[in-house]
Amino acid sequence: VGDSAEFDSEVESICPFCGVGCQISLKVKDNKVKYVEGINGPANEGRLCVKGRFGFDYIHHDHRLTKPLIRRDDAPAKGLNVDPGKWGDVFREASWDEALDFAAKGLKGRGREVAGFGSAKCTNEEAYLFQKMIRQGFGHNNVDHCTRLCHASSVAALMENVGSGAVTATFNEIENADVAIAIGCNPIENHPVAATYFKQFTKRGGKLIVMDPRGQALKRFASHMLQFRPGADVSMLNAIMHVIVEEGLYDQQYIDAYTENWEAEKAHLSGFAPEKMAEMCGIDADVLRDVARTFAGAKSAMIFWGMGVSQHIHGTDNSRCLISLALMCGQVGRPGAGLHPLRGQNNVQGASDAGLIPMFLPDYQPVTDDGVRSAFTDVWQSGDFSNEKGLTVTEIMDDVHAGNIKAMYVLGENPAMSDPDVEHARAALAKLDHLVVQDIFITETANYADVILPASAFAEKSGTVTNTNRQVQMGRPALPPPGDAREDWWIEVELAKRLGLGWSYESPADVFAEMKLNMKSLENITWDRLEAQNAVTYPSLSPEDPGQAIVFGDGFPRPDGRARFTPASVIPPDDVPDAEYPMILTTGRQLEHWHTGSMTRRASVLDAVEPEANCSLHPSTLRKLGVPAGGVVRLTTKRGSIEIMAREDRAVAPDMVFLPFAFVEAAANILTNPAVDPYGKIPEFKFSAVKVEAVTGA
Ligand code: SF4
Repeated sequence: VGDSAEFDSEVESICPFCGVGCQISLKVKDNKVKYVEGINGPANEGRLCVKGRFGFDYIHHDHRLTKPLIRRDDAPAKGLNVDPGKWGDVFREASWDEALDFAAKGLKGRGREVAGFGSAKCTNEEAYLFQKMIRQGFGHNNVDHCTRLCHASSVAALMENVGSGAVTATFNEIENADVAIAIGCNPIENHPVAATYFKQFTKRGGKLIVMDPRGQALKRFASHMLQFRPGADVSMLNAIMHVIVEEGLYDQQYIDAYTENWEAEKAHLSGFAPEKMAEMCGIDADVLRDVARTFAGAKSAMIFWGMGVSQHIHGTDNSRCLISLALMCGQVGRPGAGLHPLRGQNNVQGASDAGLIPMFLPDYQPVTDDGVRSAFTDVWQSGDFSNEKGLTVTEIMDDVHAGNIKAMYVLGENPAMSDPDVEHARAALAKLDHLVVQDIFITETANYADVILPASAFAEKSGTVTNTNRQVQMGRPALPPPGDAREDWWIEVELAKRLGLGWSYESPADVFAEMKLNMKSLENITWDRLEAQNAVTYPSLSPEDPGQAIVFGDGFPRPDGRARFTPASVIPPDDVPDAEYPMILTTGRQLEHWHTGSMTRRASVLDAVEPEANCSLHPSTLRKLGVPAGGVVRLTTKRGSIEIMAREDRAVAPDMVFLPFAFVEAAANILTNPAVDPYGKIPEFKFSAVKVEAVTGA
């Protein structure tokens, strides 16, 4: 590593991977990032995980796009047929002027025929510009991003019942808690630096209740490990709340002062006695009762959750239960108390805040409100746009198949890997008559592009990002983008000019200044302040206030300042096992890989540690199949089939398969179910009926 004198420069920025938002120092020598070190950010206090520390060399990979590319007239039919290292048979190089003119020509004037996917990997300013381009340039709200695939149902429940889609307390507040629930999340793999705070909490005596259908490393630190049946979240949580009601353990004073609809919730819970629910959940009634008493008896308690809660057709109901549990015990708005959905991508909170969603403008202001829209069109100096909620990620793909959407602009997303029932999404991409993709590699989605605009990696751009803790943080460029690649905001502005939108921003700081005009959340947060301080938490009550780690101590942003109890009934998963597909498939991430793998599979250390597509099966299941660990199995659902190496894993129940989704050669989403939650419109990635067959031995 060496000392500072060895480097040409050291630049402070933000880790590009998960929503923890660790602050880093990029050490640069000879125009290359040589080393990354954690610095003292509010979320990480110098800590980093393996991805943040060793996952950066993808930015220098020889697959990086360095020139704009246009599909050749004689290119083969669109499909997954581009070798990212040898693309000459499919694309030709173009100048920026030619590529931008071509991109704009295929989009301009097409209104409702155009849709856009922005990115939670881009900055707040880039997300803001993207949603503005779709709304101002095409007159509608058909713009979305990967929040639809991760926490959309959590946000729907939080907006409905608490009045805000963000966390009520930072994860670091766990240090002031005496009990915490972690449900449907696997922080040691997915939010590793946050997990270090969880471990410290247990070391000083905090009780950690882990609830997950899959065993996991956090189990070692848990006071209670509830490995419940997949899809049984609502029955389990209602049973726990039933005990709290039955035994009078709730906080009546808090309920009276700060909530509404308690009597309806109480009546609803009467049907969920643990003794009745135990079999459905796979958890003994005694354990459910003990968990209820432990949580309700806490002085301060927090609830953390992840995709295991949100990615179900009953994801919103799952979150409603968690919100009700916290409210009935008065566990919001105090030190060590709160609700915290652990956000996935490094800027999924910020991209959502910036309005990259079809039903809300920035700061979750509804597109259906005439006053809200006119506040934006006044600032944008443009005409009105549709007052109808736009289409979501999966609805947009359906609308392409229906022949209504014919052109798309995709910035930094990879729906050809990330959408459920991905062959449906790939067929939609192939059907488009004009696809503009802006990215740093020829991703699976870029395989279908008509034009590819070479963009910048995190270490090459300036801009703000917002982490799971509501901390708005400053990202800074350590290097210029390679070759003719450009910062994403610049590409968006140049494209908008060609669409006739009259944009004249000269820097991300200009965009941030415009965002502040209609985003109350950014009050007292300025570009200069972020440059000086690196991070400010919103809300910040004054130019000196570092921001509020805990919110809603004195009421909620809802009518009468009251949070709401919304009772949740049990809804079974959409695709339940049967004789043909007898097991349960669930998908997720691994520690070393990030989402669709476009970055981490090109990071040499991470790829060396986890180089091969794999699924996890219980040893007894492998024995029954006659497949040794390392052998190959075939996984088949109603959507499709893949063959993949099987790993032995005691954490997975015998009737379950765990499948990571980062590997294109055995793409998990060929198998997943596109059925969505009716409120958050999030697909049920966590539950599909699957058949598992032996293919070969080791
Ligand atoms: Fe990056 Fe998340 Fe790891 Fe921190 S915990 S270093 S933000 S991947």
